[in-house]
Amino acid sequence: MEITLHNTLTRRKEPFAPSDPSRVTMYVCGPTVYNFAHVGNARPPVVFDVLFRLLRHVYGENAVIYARNYTDIDDKIIAASIQRGVPIDEITRDVERQYDADIAALNVLVPTRRPRATENVPAMVAVIEKLIAKGAAYVVPSGVYFSVAADEDYGKLSGRSQDELKAGARVEGEDDKRHPSDFALWKASKPGEPSWSAPFGAGRPGWHIECSAMIEEELGSPIDIHAGGVDLIFPHHENEIAQSESAHGHPLARVWMHNGFLTMDKEKMSKSIGNIVTPHELLDEGWQGETIRYALLSAHYKAPLDWNDDLLDQAQKSLDRIYGAALRLKDVEPAAADAPAAFVQALADDLNTPAAIAELSVLVTNANNARKPAEQAKAKAELLAATNLLGVLQDDPERWFRASFGDQAAEIDALVAERVKARAEKNYAESDRIRDELAGRGVEVMDSATGSTWRRKG
Ligand SMILES: [Zn+2]
Repeated sequence: MEITLHNTLTRRKEPFAPSDPSRVTMYVCGPTVYNFAHVGNARPPVVFDVLFRLLRHVYGENAVIYARNYTDIDDKIIAASIQRGVPIDEITRDVERQYDADIAALNVLVPTRRPRATENVPAMVAVIEKLIAKGAAYVVPSGVYFSVAADEDYGKLSGRSQDELKAGARVEGEDDKRHPSDFALWKASKPGEPSWSAPFGAGRPGWHIECSAMIEEELGSPIDIHAGGVDLIFPHHENEIAQSESAHGHPLARVWMHNGFLTMDKEKMSKSIGNIVTPHELLDEGWQGETIRYALLSAHYKAPLDWNDDLLDQAQKSLDRIYGAALRLKDVEPAAADAPAAFVQALADDLNTPAAIAELSVLVTNANNARKPAEQAKAKAELLAATNLLGVLQDDPERWFRASFGDQAAEIDALVAERVKARAEKNYAESDRIRDELAGRGVEVMDSATGSTWRRKG
């Protein structure tokens, strides 16, 4: 199975070949844990979770090492701590827990490694020392800066030339840096701010050096895949490349992948604009995590995706159809069958989730049409294998339908039980009356040898 991935660095879709197929490495920039994540922030962990699942499928469960960090020291975190009068640790651990719970509800697998920036400061200091020794960084009273002029390659990921950077750069508060495009590796500590000691003066790391150092520490470089949101290409990923490659003399990552924005009414979802919705709010409104996940996967990861209730309604309907097929086959023992090639190939084609979802729909139809036991066993196995790769159908089908009916589920259960009783007593008029009442509520009852189950009518 050949995987092809679009590489931001070469601006092409390329066959993917890990440097060591028994140790495939990927890194995704994780959250800055100062505030609740919105659903746009959930897009990278969800789409790259599908990549993680695909790589494990192709190279083996234990052959893929996936690291995703927590940025738990940053200007925004310090500002939030001062504003709320709460210690930094308290904010970051709280937000971290909430983030983990939110994306777990979206069926995101736990990455192999989850380093925290504050636990890797010595590794950051070591990279900065290397850069100073090589003349790629310099020390001034406000901190340590990377010298963009010392890096001929600077701008290769974002495609910006040095001239463009000069024209576009704005001088920030620190006016002791030599060039407006130079960026902070280390910020000298100000009173009341957290700080770590270092040979070049006490302070704290800049955001970009955190990822460079954690990649080196957790995975070693070059890594196979580095991914994140499209807004990280410049300056964050450009600067990660500049630091790591200047320090180590070899590429940081061979493939760079970036997912598109989430928009709301065609405007980028962002905290600063205020047009955000959080997974937490959606879960509170009664949407299931899997519905949010399916909605996020309904567009190709590189394309922008407009978020609205209609998108969630459509996702819910599609999942109901998948769960309906699983419920129909609930007593069938699945055969030994893998996800069909057409489905896996869709994902292997630069994570084409819309094409994979179309293939999945064919599998649902097969499962619904299967009559012979052997056909049913194969259809169920293929459905389970394919949905596992996409990270859906992870719930029990009966629980799924109960959950989507919320408070009404208990009433429906009672009606179904009454109908079973009426049938046992051969009171078919009453049994039909209850069936019609349930139909009026959008519920379909399915009778089998082992009892009656119900689902949302398709
Ligand atoms: Zn990063």
